[in-house]
Amino acid sequence: MKLKSLPILATLLLLGLGQALESQPKPRWWKGNTHTHTLWSDGNALPDLAVAWYKDRGYHFLALTDHNILQDGETWFPVATAGGARLQPEQVEMVLKAKDPILETRTREGQPEARLNRHDELVQRFSQPGEFLLIPGEEITSNWRSPGPEGRGHPVHINAIGLEEFIPPARGSSVVDVLNQVFDGIAAQQEDQESPVLGHLNHPNFGWGVNWEDMAQIRKGVFFEVYNGHTGTADAGNALHLSTDEMWDRANIRRLTELKLPLLLGVSTDDTHHYHGGKVAGPGRGWIVVRAETLTMKALAKAMRAGDFYSTSGVEISDISVSASSYQVQAKARPGETLTIEFLGARKSQGEQVPQPQVLATSQAEQATYEFQGDELFVRTRITSSLAHSAPKVKGELQRAWTQPIQPGK
Ligand SMILES: [Zn+2]
Ligand SMILES: [Zn+2]
Repeated sequence: MKLKSLPILATLLLLGLGQALESQPKPRWWKGNTHTHTLWSDGNALPDLAVAWYKDRGYHFLALTDHNILQDGETWFPVATAGGARLQPEQVEMVLKAKDPILETRTREGQPEARLNRHDELVQRFSQPGEFLLIPGEEITSNWRSPGPEGRGHPVHINAIGLEEFIPPARGSSVVDVLNQVFDGIAAQQEDQESPVLGHLNHPNFGWGVNWEDMAQIRKGVFFEVYNGHTGTADAGNALHLSTDEMWDRANIRRLTELKLPLLLGVSTDDTHHYHGGKVAGPGRGWIVVRAETLTMKALAKAMRAGDFYSTSGVEISDISVSASSYQVQAKARPGETLTIEFLGARKSQGEQVPQPQVLATSQAEQATYEFQGDELFVRTRITSSLAHSAPKVKGELQRAWTQPIQPGK
C-alpha cells in the first residue's frame, strides 16, 4: 500500500466508526419499580390500575411481583361493596373507562366478578417500545421456622424479575439455606432462558427475618433492598437490630475479606399493596434509576449487574462516574433543598483486625468527588436531602439516594 493512501483509508475508517457510533443509542436514565402487588396476591388493586398508576407518572419499567404466583391463568375476583372488600365496583369501572380496556366481567350466583388480567394481556395494553416496559415478576415468599420451643418464623422474601417459569418458595435447614436455594433456582432458570432473570432479597429486617451474616452468605445473588416503601419493613433497624445501610456494609466486608463473593448492590422499591389511600404501603415511595442504552430487560439487567444504577426515596442524581482514582456523584438539588453526600465504605486493615464500616468523607454540596487513598476495600455513596420524605415510614424520615459500592482499582 502506498503511503499517500493511508489518510484516505483512515478517513474512511473514521467515517465508518462515526456512523457506527451515531447509530448506537447513548446511555440514559430509566426509572422503575421492581416490587409491586396486585389482586393476584395481597395488593388491593386490579393489575391494570396498578400498572396505570406507574405508567401515568412517568415510570419507564415495572415488575408486578405477587406472592408465590405469576400473573397467569384464569382467575376471577369478587366485586363487592362491603367494608374491607379489596375489589370495589369503582375499580372495575375505571378500567372499563380506560382507552383500550381489556377486562372481562361476569355474574356468578348473583355476585359480580372481574377476571384478573394476565401478564401477556397487561403487556399488550401497556408496554410501548422505548416508553414503558412491563417485566414479569414473582415475590418468592418463604418462611423459615427456627427450631425449639423458642422457635419463630423468619420471613425470607426474594423477588425474581424477568422470569418465565414459576419458582416455588423453599424449605431449608436455615435462613442461609433458604436464601441459597431460591437464588440457585433463579440462577438455574437464567441458564434455561435467553432473556435475563434478576433476583433481589427483599426487606431483610421485615420480621427480623434475615440478618447481615445471612446476607453475606448469598452465593448466587447480588441485589438486596436497602430501601422498601412498606412501613412494616424496619429498614432503620432498632436498638437491637442494625439498619439495612449498616447491614449492607458489614455483609460486604465479610464477602470480600472472608468469603470471596462479589459485592452486594442495593435497590429501592415500593412494595406497593395499597393504591387507594392509607399510610402502610402506597406507591411512589422508593424506586431505582438505571443507566442503559435501551429500555429492554437485557440492557437494564446488564447495567444493573454492572452497578450502573442508583436507588432513591426522592433524591435525584444526574451523573455517577468512577475512574481509577476517584468516585464522583452529581445530584440535582431542588429549590430550597440542601444535599449531604457521604462516601461510605471500609478500609483494608493490617493484621487480624476485621475492617469496620465507616464514613470516608462527607460533603454538603450537589456534587462531590472522593479521591481513593489506596487502602479502601470498597466505596459507595449515600445522599441525604434536607427535604422530608413524601410518605415517611418513620417520623422525620428524609429523602435519600444510594449509589453502588465499587472496589477501587477493580
Ligand atoms: Zn415481602
Ligand atoms: Zn412484597
